[in-house]
Amino acid sequence: MTLPSSNGKTNLSLEIPTIKFTKLFINGEFVDSLSGKEFETIDPRSGEVIAKIAEGTKEDIDVAVKAARVAFDDGPWPRMPGFVRAKIMLKWADLIDQNIEEIAALDTIDAGKLYTFCKAVDIPGVANIIRYYAGAADKIHGKVLKPARELHAYTLMEPIGVVGHIIPWNFPSTMFAAKVAPALAAGCTMVLKPAEQTPLSALFYAHLAKEAGIPDGVLNVVPGFGATAGAAISSHMDIDKVSFTGSTEVGREIMVSAARSNLKPVSLELGGKSPLLIFDDADVNKAAELALLGILFNKGEICVAGSRVFVQEGIYDEFEKKLVEKAKAWVVGDPFDPKVQQGPQVDKKQFEKILSYIEHGKNDGATLLTGGKKIGDKGYYIEPTIFSNVKEDMRIAQDEIFGPVMALMKFKTIEEAIKSANNTKYGLAAGIVTKNLDIANTVSRSIRAGIIWINCYFAFGNDIPYGGYKMSGFGRDFGLESLHKYLQVKSVVTPIYNSPWL
Ligand code: NAD
Repeated sequence: MTLPSSNGKTNLSLEIPTIKFTKLFINGEFVDSLSGKEFETIDPRSGEVIAKIAEGTKEDIDVAVKAARVAFDDGPWPRMPGFVRAKIMLKWADLIDQNIEEIAALDTIDAGKLYTFCKAVDIPGVANIIRYYAGAADKIHGKVLKPARELHAYTLMEPIGVVGHIIPWNFPSTMFAAKVAPALAAGCTMVLKPAEQTPLSALFYAHLAKEAGIPDGVLNVVPGFGATAGAAISSHMDIDKVSFTGSTEVGREIMVSAARSNLKPVSLELGGKSPLLIFDDADVNKAAELALLGILFNKGEICVAGSRVFVQEGIYDEFEKKLVEKAKAWVVGDPFDPKVQQGPQVDKKQFEKILSYIEHGKNDGATLLTGGKKIGDKGYYIEPTIFSNVKEDMRIAQDEIFGPVMALMKFKTIEEAIKSANNTKYGLAAGIVTKNLDIANTVSRSIRAGIIWINCYFAFGNDIPYGGYKMSGFGRDFGLESLHKYLQVKSVVTPIYNSPWL
């Protein structure tokens, strides 16, 4: 494990890319907030301020929603042929490709994400998500129906209207694209509120959207806080749908607020406490690598983190030994350094929350195998942390920690493993490691979660729907399922006189 450096600084340049966009993006323009308020966005490597960002509040959301309403009711976007929308979206994707390094640097300084990963995967992935949905924009069809001899009927798939997107900070770019691209392809207009911790890349994408030719008012980006700007979206009478990714607690508030206002439909991608089940026939070394990646990727700040690892008793001891060895060799440090595997947690609040869960783990009687401490005296770095002897009712086995903290447990039988895996209020993802097809089939059908990875973890694809069972939410991002979240079905029925056929 490496520190950012012995004196808390890194050898690498702490130089911050020039921040070009700090204002609200409403109706095709960058504007100050009506209140004139600003908030600071912080570099988690140092805790220092990167930039001051215009702070959107209810009044700004109102203006943005008006712009989106006009663009929907009277503008060209929902009315143009799908292939024309696609052409503009494809141009946007190309512009993103031309700016990958700059955007990757923005996500790295704003969220502490690995620069090399953002550059190679996250940001090119944004362009590809946009391309995937651009390809669907001219393939949105209803059905022809024949309910009776005297009736002709068909369905139309119409854009749902003005969408409010509220996204979290852990994948600022992927979340942005996963929400915006299908809604644009469907012909919707929208207001997006990025997380207050990570507003920078969303504003950059908005700038490129304008350059690509997305008409004014179609995509509005309003940074701000949840209790003000976010709540103004979920309670807005003129927003037709809310698409939310974030915590289960806030998801509940959003649903209540949507119900109390105009009954707008909501889709919720929420938290998780995902199990990884490793069976006796697994390759122990590979399984330990997978388990470690499952909890440490993106510093554990990923909703599908494999935070509960269940290992069958026959290989448990060997597995535990290898896991600890590998965790000790894991490299934590400046996320701009290509050798580093784990950067800082996103902010002080998240950092302190994770450290407090580590204390809960110790106090509740789990055994700390490795890690457990912060690293350095600057920034928000935490050691990869593994607890064994974890009981299923402990807080570290039940609550979403959203950090590099694994709860390791042992099981005997398949039945026991399934029961333990399902012993959670969440149901986002699960992993299974086995060479036995029968075990893989039985377990994958028995776990109540939206995505199951067999002999892999974090395997995503634009056409793989992704979302929760139970209190991990409902609705799916990615795949054509997501496009359908932004469409609604209209049935058109007309009499047919003297039809020769049924
Ligand atoms: P959060 O719920 O605190 O915030 C998410 C977003 O909601 C932010 O933009 C925030 O400003 C906004 N918000 C907060 N309070 C609000 C309110 N009262 N009304 C409207 N909006 C409000 O979550 P977070 O801490 O930013 O992100 C971490 C959480 O997100 C974790 O629980 C994680 O599991 C979840 N997550 C889920 C997925 C998924 O696909 N299921 C993906 C990423 C993150």
